[in-house]
Amino acid sequence: MSLSLIANWKLNGSKEFNHHWALEFFRNFNGNNYSSIGIAPASLYIDHLKAVLADHDIMVGSQNIDMEQTGARTGEISASMIKDLGCAFSIVGHSERRILFHETNHMICQKLIQANNNSLIPILCIGESADENQRNNTYKVLEEQIIEALGNANELSSLIIAYEPVWAIGSGKTPNPEEINSVHEMIKDVVQSRFPKIDLESVLYGGSVNLKNASYLFEQKNIDGALIGGASLDGREFALIANVLKEQSV
Ligand code: PEP
Repeated sequence: MSLSLIANWKLNGSKEFNHHWALEFFRNFNGNNYSSIGIAPASLYIDHLKAVLADHDIMVGSQNIDMEQTGARTGEISASMIKDLGCAFSIVGHSERRILFHETNHMICQKLIQANNNSLIPILCIGESADENQRNNTYKVLEEQIIEALGNANELSSLIIAYEPVWAIGSGKTPNPEEINSVHEMIKDVVQSRFPKIDLESVLYGGSVNLKNASYLFEQKNIDGALIGGASLDGREFALIANVLKEQSV
């Protein structure tokens, strides 16, 4: 089973937070397949978090990687450094990176190549804005993002896509589960038909997932799991969501 539930801790955390989160998570998670769960802490805490998670093979990854391997790029962190720390994956092209740090599909494409060259599973985030959604442009925008981001990265040995409508992130709003299911079906079709050399492992949904809406989302055939921001900061809630996903996957 590939990664199906990923925590994006964004700019949150500390050593104390890692310990407390792990305590709450392990107290409440009733499964034994840890390898389908991933956590993306701030990169500075990857080593510490891995030590705290000790023998459990929960995957740890980064929230971002640089588009270059080395060079005069003050402040950046490369895919090979993330791999060197023992990570399994990296989020790429999150909407906060696109909006706040002006990442383009071209840069995202370079990052996908870096991830692939360093055996990291890239979690490619795509999503439409509120305005694009209201104008019924969702499918067009997503298709463009996929085609441009995968343009030169058309031979990836693994890829996970996270569909994250920008207006749903941190807002408490989500599209209805059936709508998300149709979008995921379209994403799978586009990747499989246009990029036959890419192994698309799964399509996750992200945007205000919590314990209340998880079961409605996970019952949809094409929603393979979730990328979770806010609700992932609480180790107990994240574990309970993981329990829901596990029960609905059998
Ligand atoms: C995210 O930022 O990837 C995300 C899904 O956030 P939230 O769950 O808080 O909406």
